[in-house]
Amino acid sequence: MKTITLYNTLTRRKETFEPINEEHVGMYVCGPTVYGDPHLGHARPAVTFDLLFRYLQSLGYKVRYVRNITDVGHLEHDADEGEDKIAKKARLEQLEPMEIAHYYTERYHAAMRELGVLSPSIEPHASGHIIEQIEMVKRILDAGYAYESNGSIYFDVEKYNRDYHYGRLSGRNLDDIVTNTRELDGQSDKHHSYDFALWKRASAEHIMRWPSPWSDGFPGWHMECSAMSTKYLGEQFDIHGGGMDLMFPHHECEIAQSTAALGKDSARYWVHNNMITINGQKMGKSLGNFITLEQLFTGNHPILAQAYTPMTIRFFVLQAHYRSTLDFSNEALQAAEKGLDRLMKGIEALAKIKPADHSTADVTELERRCSEAMADDLNSPMVISALFDWVRIINQAAEGQQTFTAEDLATLKATIDLYVFNILGLRNEKAAEGGGKDIVSPLVEMLLTMRMEAKAAKDWATSDKIRDNLTAIGIRVKDRKDGYDWELL
Ligand code: ZN
Repeated sequence: MKTITLYNTLTRRKETFEPINEEHVGMYVCGPTVYGDPHLGHARPAVTFDLLFRYLQSLGYKVRYVRNITDVGHLEHDADEGEDKIAKKARLEQLEPMEIAHYYTERYHAAMRELGVLSPSIEPHASGHIIEQIEMVKRILDAGYAYESNGSIYFDVEKYNRDYHYGRLSGRNLDDIVTNTRELDGQSDKHHSYDFALWKRASAEHIMRWPSPWSDGFPGWHMECSAMSTKYLGEQFDIHGGGMDLMFPHHECEIAQSTAALGKDSARYWVHNNMITINGQKMGKSLGNFITLEQLFTGNHPILAQAYTPMTIRFFVLQAHYRSTLDFSNEALQAAEKGLDRLMKGIEALAKIKPADHSTADVTELERRCSEAMADDLNSPMVISALFDWVRIINQAAEGQQTFTAEDLATLKATIDLYVFNILGLRNEKAAEGGGKDIVSPLVEMLLTMRMEAKAAKDWATSDKIRDNLTAIGIRVKDRKDGYDWELL
């Protein structure tokens, strides 16, 4: 298997990727909380981990990609306070919480399909894994790293920190965390403000609730990922991914939970994508710059100068390295739209180049550059820059300034297929629009060739039948001296 490197947030360096199970790779990525329309912020982790998923598969790995759906336990304030986000939406819209979760899960799936994001291997829902979460809470209690308080179970951060290091993923230590968390107000069941809930007793008005040995309640938000990754990928697995905004507290708490329950770290490589900003600002509902993917696709938002196609968004995300910041602006998206168009036109031009008896450029250079870039911590911008260099060469060849043998043209097409369509996951949206006609043409040509043969054999009945049937479905056939012409009516 090809040697590749990935940046591991846990060790803060690029590491050679070595899966635990040879050709099998287990990958867990934190998915969406389904209480609102998918937005620009969802596009980046989805495309980043889709790129990694596609790339690992292209290298020959068998990847089990688990991406969860959070449909319970994500409270208004990421701490253990406030109403459940889905329950709140359900209350406002007078629906069942699971109607909200189902509706937005479907919306998320539709947007992901548009963006060319492949479906993961397993997509577990938090609400479908309450038993597994309760079992894991029991293990943490048995290991002595949690305590019960008034029907809720909290993680004992201080005790854990004495045996392990709480904060090692985000590079914090407990002292920093203590100074940055507010004092308890005396109303809380927690011993310390930095302790976090593994299980919460539900108040009377809390509708999403399940029985447990401690109380009728619901799991803490961080629990689901520890429980579901262990269930589907085992106690140790290869890659855990998510957005940088999840590093603390979510992923830090996941590490603490899994380590407390299993006595070891679960994930070997922690991979985090950087965030998208909008005109230099963090995206937020209060800032008026919150853009859903549907608004991007339709152009229906005051910030947007125009609509942007799903592939423009995907290309825009891929043009930046996943660990770099990415700033959204109309100018940046228009540039991405132009760039993508240039790439697709180059690919169309390549299909029309006639082979020559010798090649004027080394076509293996493109494969070498793309393959090195991807192996270097998924450097998609370098892949794109190599592709653009080759679009220039292809355009020169289309004008007769470069030549390629048939074999080299085939190699070039195969390399472009692999990197553009398979690994970067792009598609030619314009060609897809005219796809119907592309299938019609060869079919009509085939029928008209058969008609020519019938005419040559003086089989006038068949010849007329083909012409009349084509006319009936809206294709006009015009006989000419040397053959035929046809057009769509
Ligand atoms: Zn998670």
